[in-house]
Amino acid sequence: MTTRTQSTPFSVTQHSVRSWNFGAGPAALPVEVLEQIKEDLPVYKNSGASILEIGHRTAHYDELQARVEKLLRDLLDIPQTHAVLLLAGGARMQFVMAPMNLLIEGRPAEVVHTDVWTKMALQDIEKIGSGRVVASSSQDNFSYIPVMGPGTFSGDASYVHICANNTIYGTQYRSFPDTGAVPLVADMTSEILSRRIPAGRFGLFFASAQKNMGAAGVTLAVLRRDLLDRSPVRLPAMLSYKEHAQADSRLNTPPAFAVYVMGLMLRWVRDQGGVAKFERESQMKSIMLYDLIERSGFYTSPVHQKDRSTQNVIFHIRGGDENLEKRFVQESEAAGFIGLQGHRSAGGLRASIYNAVSLTTVGELAEFMSAFAKKNA
Ligand SMILES: *Cc1c(COP(=O)(O)O)cnc(C)c1O
Repeated sequence: MTTRTQSTPFSVTQHSVRSWNFGAGPAALPVEVLEQIKEDLPVYKNSGASILEIGHRTAHYDELQARVEKLLRDLLDIPQTHAVLLLAGGARMQFVMAPMNLLIEGRPAEVVHTDVWTKMALQDIEKIGSGRVVASSSQDNFSYIPVMGPGTFSGDASYVHICANNTIYGTQYRSFPDTGAVPLVADMTSEILSRRIPAGRFGLFFASAQKNMGAAGVTLAVLRRDLLDRSPVRLPAMLSYKEHAQADSRLNTPPAFAVYVMGLMLRWVRDQGGVAKFERESQMKSIMLYDLIERSGFYTSPVHQKDRSTQNVIFHIRGGDENLEKRFVQESEAAGFIGLQGHRSAGGLRASIYNAVSLTTVGELAEFMSAFAKKNA
């Protein structure tokens, strides 16, 4: 790796240099969080053992989980009408649990199809019950969020499934559709904590932690409590929202380390100024890159301007020059940037700029991009 001219804020160990991480997930964590993890090993808060070793029925774990829930409620404005569940199995497990718990006989789930992730969700819905696509941008390579109106939804669906931010194709809802009395289910995995959301309006929203909220292993599911009554009694306990809620997310051994890291991330977000601060910063960071792309005459964005994600900035070189894009990835890695290769199903380049990727770090990337454009123009 070439030496960097700028001062590096990354100094977790003296022995290795941390790269500027633009990976889509697992993604960058704030250095303060990594330092804290180091400090809390091998003994967590006078418990006599590390967080990896203490029991999940102890007062220490009780305190941790209660603190995590409180931070989540405060930061995301989650009302008491909604249960906060900490589950395992990743966001994809929610593609399974949502239909298993929320489908009502004879009433399909309606899906707005905007990404690989909604396709997977639909496939699982159809294995469990029935699903239907009510709006889609698949015919245009998922380059926008479909326009939705009063006629989009039938009004008699079990629920409506959307993906709030489309990690792979780089689109994001500016506002959430009105589904009336039908519960809205949103996959928020790649945007949770990046902007304020009307939490109380959702029937269910979920996000696995490894993009914007910590480490892989735990998934947040926030569910309107009255929907717990939909969980079929015959569902195996581990698949039932109701049973998880009744057991306070401890039906079995919870992923304590991932919950602990989530707690550190939430505290960091709070101390930095909360979700509103990251909403502003997400705007600034993404505008910096989109402006550069627009002005460059070299980079192109495949995404309609109004629907561009503040979290995953997808771009191409001259509309998709694969040789130059390959060179971009190689040279960016040599310069200390990682994770800029686009997803295997979409190609191109992608800069994921979650909360832990600072404005300064995005500035570094912008500088690299400008220099690369000049050199290869
Ligand atoms: C990454 C991602 C997923 C998959 O998450 P897992 O925790 O790996 O199951 C699902 N949905 C979206 C929007 C994602 O970005």
